[in-house]
Amino acid sequence: MTAPLPPIATGLRGRCPSCGEGALFQAFLTYAPRCEACHADFSLEDAGDGPAVFVIFIVGIFIIPMALGFSMILDAPMWLTLIVWIPIIVLVSLWLLRLLRGVMFNLQWKHDALEVKSKDIRK
Ligand SMILES: [Zn+2]
Repeated sequence: MTAPLPPIATGLRGRCPSCGEGALFQAFLTYAPRCEACHADFSLEDAGDGPAVFVIFIVGIFIIPMALGFSMILDAPMWLTLIVWIPIIVLVSLWLLRLLRGVMFNLQWKHDALEVKSKDIRK
């Protein structure tokens, strides 16, 4: 048996949590249905809203204060602040969202965490 793969490293690289080789994403933010290298089935896994929550916290804590500092220190007009920082915020958010979707998917895979549905509880 091989050593378990580090879920954060494979997640940041957007790789399969099972083999570490195949691509986890088929598009920028869309998970592939299965691993192209080891054929692991990704269809039951979903990171849900978790990555978006972390992105909101990270961007809200680090990027928004930088935009406010830009405006206050340079005494920049609001239109300039918006033109400069809106693209930065959007691009950083998308980049972080991909990284965190990969990490959370890999962590869920490692810990065998699946979404619990009401039919699973009622028996
Ligand atoms: Zn794989």
